[in-house]
Amino acid sequence: MSARSSARGFASLAVHAGQDPDAATGAVIPPVHFSTTYAQDGIGGLRGGYEYGRSGNPTRTALQTQLAAIEGGAHALSFASGLAAEDALLRTVLRPGDEVLLGNDVYGGTFRLISRVLGDWGVGLRVVDMSDLDAVRAAVAERAPRILWVETPSNPLLRITDIAGLAAVGHDAGALVVVDNTFATPALQRPLAFGADVVVHSTTKYLGGHSDVVGGALVLNDDALAEKIGFVQFAVGAVSGPLDAWLTTRGIKTLAVRMRQHSENGLAVASFLQNHERVARVYYPGLDSHPGHELAARQMSGFGGIVSLALESGEAARRFAESLQLFTLAESLGGVESLVNYPDAMTHASVRGTEAAVPVEVVRLSVGIEDAADLLADIEQALQA
Ligand SMILES: *Cc1c(COP(=O)(O)O)cnc(C)c1O
Repeated sequence: MSARSSARGFASLAVHAGQDPDAATGAVIPPVHFSTTYAQDGIGGLRGGYEYGRSGNPTRTALQTQLAAIEGGAHALSFASGLAAEDALLRTVLRPGDEVLLGNDVYGGTFRLISRVLGDWGVGLRVVDMSDLDAVRAAVAERAPRILWVETPSNPLLRITDIAGLAAVGHDAGALVVVDNTFATPALQRPLAFGADVVVHSTTKYLGGHSDVVGGALVLNDDALAEKIGFVQFAVGAVSGPLDAWLTTRGIKTLAVRMRQHSENGLAVASFLQNHERVARVYYPGLDSHPGHELAARQMSGFGGIVSLALESGEAARRFAESLQLFTLAESLGGVESLVNYPDAMTHASVRGTEAAVPVEVVRLSVGIEDAADLLADIEQALQA
C-alpha cells in the first residue's frame, strides 16, 4: 500500500487494503488461489515470490495486508487458528526457563496452551489481574517475565486494562507486551498505537464474523521479530488455507458496520439486564457503573457485543442459558447471530479450579446484529423461566 492509501480511514482500509482488482482480468474481487505450487522461469525464477503453498499464497498475502492495515501494524501473519497464532508467537519468543505473566481472565485455551503444552518444555506461567497495574508492577518486580499477555476487554468478565500503562510496565522490565484484541477488534481499539508489541487475534470471532471459518493472526511492527515468527510459521506450517483466508477477508470488509451494530445492541442488552430484578450483576464496559468505563471510553471507540451477567446461583445461570431461544447455546462468539455460553462448563472448563476459573453464576452473551427488541424479549422470557 502507498503512503497515501495508508492514511485512509478504518472502514476504507478494511474494504480495500490488499484487495486491488486482479491484474490479469480486472476481477474486482481478487481470485482465491488454490494452487499449492508455482511455475519457475528457470531454476529459482519465481514470478511473484511464490514457490510453495506453505511458504506463501497470494490469498493469504491479501489477508495479511488487510490485517496489517486495519491494526495499523507493519506486519501481519495469518494462521489456521487463533491458538496456532499464539503457539507460533510463544515458541518464537520463549526459551526454557522463561515465564509468561498472564491476565487472570483470559481465554481458557491460552491458559491451557501455556500451562499444559509449553509447561512441559520448561516455560513458566504466573497469573495476575492485569486491570490492576500495581499488582502487575509487584508481580514483575518479583521476577521479570519474558512476556506480558493481556486480553482487554477480558473474557468473560470484561475487565479493562490500560494498554499504555501496561506497555510501560512491561517495557521497563524488558518484557514483550502482547494484547489479544479478539473482543474489541481494531474497529474499536488498536493496541499497537498504545505501545503494545504484538496483537493477537482469533479471526474465528468478529473478524470472520459469520461463524463459518476458524483462523488466527499476529500483527506487529518489529521487523526482526516478524521475520522470526514468519520462519516459525513456515517451518511449523499452521498456515491458513486459501479458502479460509478468503472468507476472513470477506468478513473483515464489513467489520466497521458490524461492530457499530454489535455495540449498539450490546448496550441495549446490558442496560436492560442492569435494570432487571433477577440479575445480580452485569459486566459491560459501556455501562457507567462498570469500574473500567472511563478507561474503556478513552481507549476504545465503542464497547462491543460481549455482555456477561451474574444470576443468583449457578443453577439459575444454567437455567437461563438453556432457556434462551433466539440466542443459540454454543461456544464461540463474534458472529452476526447471538450466542449464549456458560463459561464454567463450556469455554472455560479447562480453567475450572485454577486461578483463572470463572464464577458459576456467570453467563456470557455474544450479542449479534438481530433486532434489539427481539433479543430483549428473548432475554425476558428466559429470565422468567
Ligand atoms: C477463541 C479465542 C482464542 C482462540 O482462537 P481459536 O481460533 O479458537 O484457536 C483466543 N483468544 C480469544 C480471546 C478467543 O476468544
